[in-house]
Amino acid sequence: MAELRQNLATREWVIIASERARRPNAYAEAPDRVHTHERPEYDAACPFCPGNEELDLEVSRAPAEGPWATRVVRNKYPALGLDGTITRAFNGVERRITGIGYHEVLIEHPLHNATLALMTDEEVRAILEMYLSRGREISTDSRIEQIVFFKNHGERAGASLPHTHSQIIGLPIVPGDIRHRIGEARRFFDDTGSCVFCAMLNDELTRDERLIAVNDYYAAFVLYASSSPFHIWIMPRQHHASFMHTEPPSLIQLAPLLRDVLFRLYIHLNDPDYNLIIRSTPTKEPENGYFHWYIAIVPRLSRSAGLELGSGVWINPSIPEQCAAYLRGET
Ligand SMILES: [Zn+2]
Ligand SMILES: [Zn+2]
Repeated sequence: MAELRQNLATREWVIIASERARRPNAYAEAPDRVHTHERPEYDAACPFCPGNEELDLEVSRAPAEGPWATRVVRNKYPALGLDGTITRAFNGVERRITGIGYHEVLIEHPLHNATLALMTDEEVRAILEMYLSRGREISTDSRIEQIVFFKNHGERAGASLPHTHSQIIGLPIVPGDIRHRIGEARRFFDDTGSCVFCAMLNDELTRDERLIAVNDYYAAFVLYASSSPFHIWIMPRQHHASFMHTEPPSLIQLAPLLRDVLFRLYIHLNDPDYNLIIRSTPTKEPENGYFHWYIAIVPRLSRSAGLELGSGVWINPSIPEQCAAYLRGET
């Protein structure tokens, strides 16, 4: 029997289509697919490979001297421009704000065939530290309301260049998606006096049915109401509303856990395409008791269609508990 499950935090519904559900291993890409590590280490035509750097676009690099480990550049074709002041125009149906904001690209590694799943913990930590330092810097710009960190791995996830990279976008507005999550979190807090994300995390830790990896500071689990197969959240076990309020030492714990989760996807699903998103509170919101930052990892293994577009209700043809067990290596 199929069932509808609701995500406690977002209140979104999903149909877990258990009768049509495929076994988790059926979602693995073909083993002969060219894995990221099988590509050449260097591509002369790649703008992110060492030697091809466009230095006029560079925003930051680490380390500051010598060969770089990570670099941040302005997007060559930015969605938003940096200069100017924000003006608003509301005239009937026409509602607009000047397109000001940040659009940066974080090049995560010098090698063309590197991927987070196979990096060292130190390399992953360097990437997270760069996220944090750029996020904190962009937060000081009073024109910016929301920072979105995301990564598209593979073509189906929307990556236009194969060299491993993330994007950092600073928006002059709070998007409706974030506003909705904050509203629901606030409602739960009003009703119960606690953070809905802490409640979810504590329940996942107690049940131990959907966990993939846990350490002292972070936990990764397949969502109870996953909208698609292997939809994973990584949450800090300490309550923080914003990723930008994370202390750098905590990244020492996040790096190995994130790498571990991505390594499991890489091995068990044959380097699937995926999106990774950091969900965090708007930049000007103070630390609060109701919102809780987290990382979402969404492998691109099934396609959405009309029902999702028309209703926001997803059909997930996999069983979240089975997906988690599969990533733990149990089936
Ligand atoms: Zn490259
Ligand atoms: Zn919390």
